[in-house]
Formats: sequence, structure tokens, C-alpha cells
Amino acid sequence: MSSPLNPKTTHWEFSGLPGAIGITLGLPTLIIFFALITNENYSLTGINLDIQAIIDQLPQNSTEWIDLCFDKTCWLAYLTWFFGLVILDFILPGRSLNGVTLRDNTKLNYKINGLAMSGTLLAVLAARVYQSTNWYLPELQFIYDNHLKLTIVTTIFSFLLAIFVYITSFIPLITPNGVKTRERVLSVNGNTGSVIYDWFIGRELNPRIGTWDIKLFCELRPGLLLWFLINLSCIHNQYHKYGEITDSLVLINALQAFYVFDGVLNEEGLLTMIDITTDGFGFMLAFGDLAWLPWSYSLPARYVCLPEHKVSLGFSNIALILGIKVLGYYIFHSSNKQKSDFRQGKLDHLNLVSIPTKTGSKLLCDGWWGLSQHINYLGDWLIGWSWCLPTGFQTPLTYFYVIYFGTLLLHRQMRDEAKCRAKYGKQWEEYEAKVPYKIIPYVY
Ligand code: NDP
Repeated sequence: MSSPLNPKTTHWEFSGLPGAIGITLGLPTLIIFFALITNENYSLTGINLDIQAIIDQLPQNSTEWIDLCFDKTCWLAYLTWFFGLVILDFILPGRSLNGVTLRDNTKLNYKINGLAMSGTLLAVLAARVYQSTNWYLPELQFIYDNHLKLTIVTTIFSFLLAIFVYITSFIPLITPNGVKTRERVLSVNGNTGSVIYDWFIGRELNPRIGTWDIKLFCELRPGLLLWFLINLSCIHNQYHKYGEITDSLVLINALQAFYVFDGVLNEEGLLTMIDITTDGFGFMLAFGDLAWLPWSYSLPARYVCLPEHKVSLGFSNIALILGIKVLGYYIFHSSNKQKSDFRQGKLDHLNLVSIPTKTGSKLLCDGWWGLSQHINYLGDWLIGWSWCLPTGFQTPLTYFYVIYFGTLLLHRQMRDEAKCRAKYGKQWEEYEAKVPYKIIPYVY
């Protein structure tokens, strides 16, 4: 379908349909594989995979497969978690903020209630700990004991959610006066006409039910907060089964919890990011937010909580890792803030070097943004290293995050470069000549 508002997409990302099918089948298989190689029955050591030990954990017949994929308790627990957060999202107070101007010249309004949401979750956890005997929380142990089943539940749920938003993207919206209907704003990347590709990449830009924004909710709530709980479930299991809590596991929990709550508390920053402004919401984002993020980012904690892989870091290693984290966070935070302040005119008095463009906005080439075109990505990547290093050097598996995230950032840099080149033309070339490095100064 092509219209003046929603032109047909001609550029296919991820190598088109083969890439979309490959990712749709490959990434869920990968997180299931992760669950099969980091559990108390079998865990990977080094790079030696015991294929038989992995196969032995899989169901032997269709009834067992159905039990694994559709375990009633796990489904009930996950649906309660997801829709419980939806209800909280509705009832908790928050600030109201407008997003960027869309192609139909409207702006969507968002409720920013990350503070109330985080406070509520932490208060519930604190109350449960207070009520508990010897710190035992059955819900955390339930998460630990069902990593594999919950991985599958979140994956199937993402498939279903992507089908739902794909179908609703064809239903015209009813305007507030209830009479006329108006066309939905589709993603510039998701209107190819191919059912599978558009379902995968996301057809509609901002699917909503009433004022409830599905994309913003999924980006920052059920998956991100589940990641925090999965990490806690690892500490919980280590303490209650093995009678100790290692410093490496505490450090991973603390560093990742900081990242989770930093994201949730600064959610307005997301409103101007590519995910919200450009990407459609389809399987890629639904699965990425709800299943991929919690189950792959929690790998370091899931690995070091196993007794055969426990790591005691000691003071100097902890200090070194904290140093990497602080440096990464400083670069990440101050560079993003500098760009945002610059764009809002808050740094005009500093007379920073910049290039005016034909669109009216300026490209900053001073401060952090004079060092590389995406210095903020470097900071983010260093933060990732601080999550993996506490696992020691037992297996490359626990470094999966920095490898994957480095690849994601490279891909994102290329996508952004293509976008900026098309948008700014000659001025972008001028900018590239002034700031030649893409991410790491003097390296790349
Ligand atoms: P950037 O914050 O680098 O934003 C890129 C956009 O900023 C460009 O499209 C352009 O937009 C504008 N821009 C580019 N160069 C300049 C300049 N020199 N001066 C002024 N404006 C400029 O990229 P992202 O949105 O991808 O990332 C934001 C943050 O999110 C990063 O810190 C990144 O690390 C993080 N991130 C985290 C992920 C995760 O999973 N944890 C995933 C992806 C990103 P315009 O059209 O407005 O000019």
C-alpha cells in the first residue's frame, strides 16, 4: 500500500526477506541454546560443547514439547507480570511529554512515569523481603528454576504481540470526534507489502491502544525490569542453594541494575531515539525488548552463579572494573547530554564549533563530538565490558554481550551515516572531513 503519507518502502534492511526469516528463527533458537548451556544440569566450560548433554535436556516427544512451551504456571506468571505492569503504567502518576513531530504533523503524547514505576517495583520487593523468612522469595526462585520455560514463553509472546500489531496496523484510526477515520503513520522501513518482512521489521511506527503506547512500554518495562529480576534470581539461588553470595555476582547485579534504572528513570531520552522516531514496532523490537534483552543480557549472572563457575574478584579487580564502568558511563552520559543541550541551544554561549546545515539544525564538531561521530557508542560499549569482566576468562560465552553489542553499534552507525548523508548531503561530507573517526578516536 502506498499513499502520500506512507510511501512504499523500497530499501530492505537485514538483507531483506532471507535476513528477516533468519533472524526470526535464529535469535530465539540462540537464547534457548543459552538456557540449555547455563543451567544446573549442564553448563558450558571453555568452548567444549557437550552436544549429547544439550540434547538430553530437550523433550523426547510432542507432549513433552507442549508441556515445555505451554507450561500453565509459567504463562500465568508471565501474563500477570506483563499485564500487571500495563495496569501500573495506567494508574501510576507521571509527567506528560510530547514526542517528535510525525509525518502527519501530529505529535504523540507520552506519560513519563519511570520514577513511580521503579519506586513501586522496589517497594514491592522490599515488602516481600521484609515478610520473608531467611530472605526466601518463592517468586525469585520460580524465575531461576524456570529460565528455559520462561525464555520460551517470552519468545512466543513476542511472536503473538508482533502478529497483533501487524494486523491492527491495517485498521484506520478513528479521530477523536469519532466520525472520520485517518491513516496510521507507518514506519518508513516497514511498508514493503511483504507480510513476513513488514511483520518482522514493524509496519506501524507507534502502535497504540488508546493512549497506551505499546512500543515505549515494551522498550522500558517488561523486558528491562525482568532482566533485573533474573539477575536477582541468580543471587537468590546461589544464596539459598549454596549458602554464599560471590562478589562477582553482586557486582554484575549492581552494575546492570544501575543501567536498568538509569534507562527507566531517563525514559524521556528515548523519545528522540531511532527506536521511537523511525523504527516500526514488529517482531524485531518486540522480541528484542521482551525476550532477547532479558535472556541474553543476563548471561554473565547466570553463568557465574553456577558453583563450578563461581568467581571471587577481590578488591583490586572490583576497583578496576568499576573504573571501566565509571569511564564508560561518563563518556556515554556526558556526550549524549552535550549533544542534547547543544541542540536545545543551551550551549550557545560556549561558541562551540559546528556546521550549519540546509535543514536548519547544526552538526556539532567540538567537545565530545569533535573526537568521533558516535563517541557515545564507545561509552556504551565500555559499560558492556564492565558487565562481562566480572566473569573472569572462563569462556567466550560470557563475553557474548560485548561482541553482539559491538556489532549492533557498528550496524547502527552505518544506518545512521546513511540517514545523515541523505539528510545533510554536502554538509555531512564537510562534517566527516572535520571528524573522521566513526566511533573510537584514532582507531575507527
Ligand atoms: P546518536 O545519539 O549518536 O544520534 C544520532 C543522531 O544525532 C543522528 O541521526 C543525527 O540526527 C544527530 N547527530 C549526529 N551527529 C551529530 C552531531 N555531530 N551534532 C548534532 N547532532 C548530530 O545515536 P543513537 O540514537 O543511535 O544512540 C543514542 C544512545 O543510545 C547512544 O549512547 C547509544 O550508545 C545508545 N544505544 C543503546 C542501545 C542498547 O541496546 N543499549 C542500542 C542503541 C543505542 P539529526 O537527524 O537530528 O541530525
